[in-house]
Amino acid sequence: MAKQEAEWSNRLSVCFLKKHGYLDGGWRYGGIKWTYGMSGNESSIGFTVNINGNEGDNIKLQYTHTNRGTDEKESMDFRVEFTTTPCNYGGVRYWFICPLSKSGQYCGRRVGVLFSIGKWFGCRHCGDICYAAQLEGGGFRVGSVTEPVVEKAYNEIKRFHYNGKPTRRYKRYLRLRDKMDYSWARAAMKFGIKF
Ligand SMILES: [Zn+2]
Repeated sequence: MAKQEAEWSNRLSVCFLKKHGYLDGGWRYGGIKWTYGMSGNESSIGFTVNINGNEGDNIKLQYTHTNRGTDEKESMDFRVEFTTTPCNYGGVRYWFICPLSKSGQYCGRRVGVLFSIGKWFGCRHCGDICYAAQLEGGGFRVGSVTEPVVEKAYNEIKRFHYNGKPTRRYKRYLRLRDKMDYSWARAAMKFGIKF
């Protein structure tokens, strides 16, 4: 399994999948490894993308979830559907459809980013991350770094490493991401939200 560079810690974005060619069609297998800015801890998932340009386009996320309380391990194989919208320049833009339910209500939101929420993946609304962020700063803004700012920095990366060292743009992105993660962690702690 080809592991891609660490992207957003505990996030998976359509933009990442597109950038690395996973949405180019057919069956594609990959993985993503996250390194957590503050602790250096790592986690990873594997995935299978199936794009045939029809209703059934989906990604299956395969990973091991460890229950923090009991240390019990569970193999997860979690399917998320894609939907598309037309693109200004032709072609389509892909979105995840959040598969989670909250209080018995199916979410189904069209989102560009999935977060690791307990043992599942879902949108920020389902993860209460949004809630923490809203309380902290209004909208999705937390501290001084917003998600679009970080995503833009990620899109500007042409190479991750040069001569074995992180490139200037990659370092800039990691700096912004850590800053945002830190704000999120702080907001979550403040409001007692675990994620
Ligand atoms: Zn959701």
